[in-house]
Amino acid sequence: MILLKEVKDLQNYISHLKRTGRKVGFVPTMGALHQGHLSLISKAKSECEAVVCSIFVNPTQFNDQSDLNKYPRTLDQDIELLESKQTDILFFPPVDEVYPKELDTTLSLEFGSLDKVMEGIFRPGHFDGMAQVVKRLLDIVDPDRLYMGQKDYQQFSIVNEMIRQLKLPVKLVLCPIIREEDGLAMSSRNRRLDQKIRLKANIIYQTLIATKEQIEEKDPSTLMDEAIKKLTFADFKPEYFDIVDGFTLERITNFNDHELVTVCTAVWAGEIRLIDNMILKGNYND
Ligand code: AMP
Repeated sequence: MILLKEVKDLQNYISHLKRTGRKVGFVPTMGALHQGHLSLISKAKSECEAVVCSIFVNPTQFNDQSDLNKYPRTLDQDIELLESKQTDILFFPPVDEVYPKELDTTLSLEFGSLDKVMEGIFRPGHFDGMAQVVKRLLDIVDPDRLYMGQKDYQQFSIVNEMIRQLKLPVKLVLCPIIREEDGLAMSSRNRRLDQKIRLKANIIYQTLIATKEQIEEKDPSTLMDEAIKKLTFADFKPEYFDIVDGFTLERITNFNDHELVTVCTAVWAGEIRLIDNMILKGNYND
C-alpha cells in the first residue's frame, strides 16, 4: 500500500493510474477502522482496479469540540487492516492540505428536507461540514466510484443529492450495514462504550427489527412511540426514532403511500451517541 499525505502526490499518482486506464474506487473514512469500513474496501476492490482509502477526522463536521478531541485515532492498526485488504493507496492528509488558507471550500447547497431532520436537528452544522469535506475529497481524488455505508443513511442521502445537483462525474455505491454478532451496528465509537452498557446496546437493533416486523399491523406513529419507550431505560436515552420516507427523509404517517420507508434512530448509550437505521419497505436502488 502506498501512503500519501500531500494532495499533489496523490493527484500525480491517480492521474498515472487513470492514464493507464484503471478504474479508481474511493472510500472516505475518519479512521479507527473496523469490519464495516473494510466491507466498503472489499466492495471497491471487487469493482475497481485501484482503491484509495482516506483517513481524515474532519474538524468542520464536529459541532462538539470534545467529540472531535475524543474521536479515536488508531493509525498503525488502520494501516495493518487496510493492507490486509490489499488497499492500494492510503491518503491521510493534515488539515491544511484539505483546507489550505487560500482555497475557499465552503459550499452553499440547498438540500431541502434532507439536512433539516433527524441528525440535522441534533447536530447543527454537521452536514455542511460533511458535504464540504466529501466535495473537497472528491475534487482531490477524482474517483470513478465512491463507496459509502448505509450506516450513515442521512449522510448517504445528502451526498447522493450533492452529486446529483453538482453533476459530479462519480458513481455512488451504497454498502450494507455491518453488525457485531449481537446486532449492534459496528462503529468507531463502540470501543468507547462502557462494558455494562455495551452488553445492552443491542436493544437498538432489536427495536429496529421489532419495528420492521410490525409494519403490517401498526401505523408509523404508534411504532415510533413504542420504540422511544423501549429505548428509554437505565443509561439509554433516544434522541429520535423516526420512520421516514426513504428518499425525502420526512416522517410518514402511512406506509402505503411510500415506496421506500426507512427507520433511523440516534440513542445515547451512557456518554456515547449511537446511530442506526433499517429499511422497512422497498429498496434504495429500485
Ligand atoms: P466514518 O469513518 O464513520 O466516517 O465512516 C466511513 C464510512 O464507513 C461511511 O461511509 C460509513 O457509512 C461507513 N461505515 C461505518 N460503519 C459502518 C458499518 N457498520 N457498516 C457499513 N458501513 C459503515
